[in-house]
Amino acid sequence: MRISVIGTGYVGTVSGACFAELGHEVICVDVDRSKIDQINAGVPPIYEDGLSELLKKHVGLRLSATSDYEFALMNSDVSFICVGTPSDAMGNIDLGIVKAASASLGEALKKKKGYHVVVVKSTVVPETTEKVVLPIIEKHSGKRPEDFGIAMNPEFLREGKAVHDFMNPDKIVVGSLDMRAGDIVASLYSGLECDVTRTNPRTAEMIKYVNNSFLATKISFANEVGNICKELGIDTYEVMKAVGKDFRIGPHFLNSGAGFGGSCFPKDVKALIGKAHEIGYEPLLLKSVIEVNEKQPSRMVGLLKNRLGNISGKKIAVLGLAFKNDTDDIRESRSIPVIKELLDNGAKVLAYDPMANGNMKKIFGSVEYHSSVESALRGADACLIMTEWDEFRSLDKVFGFMKNRLIIDGRHMLAPGKDIEYVGLCW
Ligand code: NAD
Repeated sequence: MRISVIGTGYVGTVSGACFAELGHEVICVDVDRSKIDQINAGVPPIYEDGLSELLKKHVGLRLSATSDYEFALMNSDVSFICVGTPSDAMGNIDLGIVKAASASLGEALKKKKGYHVVVVKSTVVPETTEKVVLPIIEKHSGKRPEDFGIAMNPEFLREGKAVHDFMNPDKIVVGSLDMRAGDIVASLYSGLECDVTRTNPRTAEMIKYVNNSFLATKISFANEVGNICKELGIDTYEVMKAVGKDFRIGPHFLNSGAGFGGSCFPKDVKALIGKAHEIGYEPLLLKSVIEVNEKQPSRMVGLLKNRLGNISGKKIAVLGLAFKNDTDDIRESRSIPVIKELLDNGAKVLAYDPMANGNMKKIFGSVEYHSSVESALRGADACLIMTEWDEFRSLDKVFGFMKNRLIIDGRHMLAPGKDIEYVGLCW
């Protein structure tokens, strides 16, 4: 099948490369010229394990990129909308980019003869595909709904494991208004060993939000339990290890720490809260999930102040800037509020991340960025561990570089050692 992918960020580039790997012909579309040039040169615009290899294999054969919507539409049978859906100032979903992409798709579709399916892969709140995307495409293409297909196909990949997750999904959900469009979208995944769950578009949209909100709830629950355990002198990891043995609960996402970040969990939970408010429902539990998450970073700084007192002028090493390991993505990283609070308190921040220094530099120019843990720790009065990078598990030898060996661990990476003052966030 011939596919066009609109938006070549994390989801678009990975989907495009993986659809090519599944044997489809793929044209990626973006408004960002530099991303198009990178893809056409076989260079991924974002870091994802395995993506570089897929681009090298398929670019020039089954995969290309362009800024020309019309070319992409004319040379494909199905278009996936993979543009961003950020939060607006109130935390509600901002559909501005989805609307712009839908309008451009509609304009290009106007000139096309024959059937074409538009699929929303961006995470959008229930009713968006039917009540926002469909009318915009109708208006700009001049076509009636029966002249083209519309479907919703949420994406569940994890950043850092995106290629693996796309090729080995635990679920594929296709929501469509009619069988024809849904059958075409489902057939694109026939090379994968996974059942396709068929629904209507609004159910597909809701499945994505419930998935992310449930995982975020598990994390905030674990953090709340962890905060209570810490006060009681109980090791919350021991508690959750036992609790997770219950098959109804499961062992995953029960690790307490500095909270969840990334481009999805915070904004998706907030968007579902916003949608609930729109229909007159007060989502008490979801609001608490966000509230607990927003308090965790400040607890890190609180523990630091408890030990050091006034931190003005103190050198604080922050290890880990990415929102999680194996990515350079810092969106909603818990390091951001921590660094902000440290700087607001007059501390000098020495930061290190194996991949994300460059991205964080765009937010905090006054932080000192280091290219190794050793160099970040040199002369530091304390160290905060913010991201679960594997290399942070064996730091014992480098703590000697610190002026004062105070370690505040936000990710349960280390154990107390005899030469360090070790403080766990929730344990
Ligand atoms: P992103 O911001 O990394 O990428 C979006 C891309 O769209 C950018 O390259 C941007 O230049 C491009 N774009 C903007 N306006 C455009 C337009 N009018 N036409 C064409 N391209 C345009 O976003 P992302 O992280 O890939 O997320 C995309 C969607 O997928 C979001 O709704 C997100 O919630 C969802 N999602 C993301 C993940 C993830 O792990 N990142 C996982 C599952 C679902």
